[in-house]
Amino acid sequence: MRYIVLDMEWNQPRHPLAAVKEPVHLKGEIIQIGAVKLDEKFRTLDTFNVMICPKYYTKMHSRVAELTMISNQDLKYGKPFEKAFEDFSRWCGEEFCILTWGWDDIPMLRDNLIIYGIDEKWIPDTYNIQPIFDQQVTKQGKQCALSTAMELLGEPPFEAHDALNDALSTACICRRLNMEEGIKNYANCKRRLVPDSYNSPHEYKYCKDAKTDKKLNTFKCHDCGKEVECEGWLTQKPARYIAIGKCECGKEHLIKIRFRRNENMTYRANRTVYPMDESRKEYYNKKLEEKQKQKQIRLEKIGKK
Ligand SMILES: [Zn+2]
Repeated sequence: MRYIVLDMEWNQPRHPLAAVKEPVHLKGEIIQIGAVKLDEKFRTLDTFNVMICPKYYTKMHSRVAELTMISNQDLKYGKPFEKAFEDFSRWCGEEFCILTWGWDDIPMLRDNLIIYGIDEKWIPDTYNIQPIFDQQVTKQGKQCALSTAMELLGEPPFEAHDALNDALSTACICRRLNMEEGIKNYANCKRRLVPDSYNSPHEYKYCKDAKTDKKLNTFKCHDCGKEVECEGWLTQKPARYIAIGKCECGKEHLIKIRFRRNENMTYRANRTVYPMDESRKEYYNKKLEEKQKQKQIRLEKIGKK
């Protein structure tokens, strides 16, 4: 199995109204593909770099031009997308998966393939390195910029916002991670980073009814995938609850539940599960303290009567 570390630069429409809307809403047109081919031990085998002459967004958006230092003049020397992609696809070979830094590249590639009438099924299994990096290095349940990740690892950076350089940086990060482990546990890594959100199909008469809805008050542990039950419910605001979820494995989570009112005056609920960290723990404890204080005041009032 080969790994293709992929990074792309894309141009944006200069005005939202100028965006292509059919057959997909094209948020960006790819103008550079940079990639690094790795073997099964994540050692570099080869690199790929191509500039593309855009067909739809032919004038550089000022912000993109500034960031990538790609000028209108440079675009003229690019290949048409079809040719560039054919070369890229041939270079990738037969059996491989794609590694990226971030969530944006793959949807962007898919949209561009569709626009150019190329079968999007070409896209193989893909892995975003960010969640693997988060699980193994930063452990904060947060996304991290490529340059920050390089800095954290003490790696000298390649100049950013060039597709090949960013792919080289990402490949360098891969070599510093336990990628086999990361890919094996990818579903769990991903759950930690992407807030795990669930919209209950249920209509509740009162918000408090949600607390006893098993589908809403249980979720899968971000670390081990076991079922965890919410506990320690607190009212955060009217129509908002927070709770905690402690898994058998030791992992803690913070749960937020937000209610919206339906037209028939019932409530619907959305639940988001976050990995517990210090600031979330502090936040929960503050709310817990407030609740205990209020309870104390109420008890004192009753005592006086
Ligand atoms: Zn667990």
